[in-house]
Amino acid sequence: MSVIATKEFTFDSAHQLVGHDGKCANLHGHTYRLEVALKGTPIIPEGPKEGFVMDFGDLKRIVKENIVDKLDHAFIAQGNEPALDQLKESGTKVIELGFRTTVENMAQFICWKLDELGVPVHYVRMWETPTGSAIVYLEDLKKTNGPVYRQTGACELE
Ligand SMILES: [Zn+2]
Repeated sequence: MSVIATKEFTFDSAHQLVGHDGKCANLHGHTYRLEVALKGTPIIPEGPKEGFVMDFGDLKRIVKENIVDKLDHAFIAQGNEPALDQLKESGTKVIELGFRTTVENMAQFICWKLDELGVPVHYVRMWETPTGSAIVYLEDLKKTNGPVYRQTGACELE
C-alpha cells in the first residue's frame, strides 16, 4: 500500500531569461513555491519512524540544506546574463545552474537531485507565480535518465 505524502517550501529568488521574446527577458523575481511529494509504504515496525513514509523533519532538513537555503534570496543564473559579473563582484548571492532557469527546468533538476539524495520522491511541483507551475514525475525523468534541457555550463548545486 503506497501513500503519497507532500510537503511545501517557499523561497524568493531573482532570475532572467536571456533571449525570451517577452517580459521574462528582464531581470525579475519570484516567490517560488515548491511541493515535494513522496511515495512509499509507511514504516510498520514500532519505533520513532513508525507510520511515516519519511519523517517530514528529515525531508525538511535535506530540502533546506540542498535546495532552499542555496536558492533563497539569490540570483539564479544560467550563466549568460549580461549583469552576472557585476552582481558577483558586488557580493550579491549568485547561484549558477548552467541551464535556462525556467520553472520547468528547475523542477526537473530538483526532482532528480532529491532522488540522488535518497529522498523517495514521487513528483515535484514548482510554482513561479500563484497560477503558473510545473510538475515533474521521477518515473518520467528516469525514462530519459535525467533532466532534459540544454546544459550550457556547470551547475553549482551538483
Ligand atoms: Zn521569471
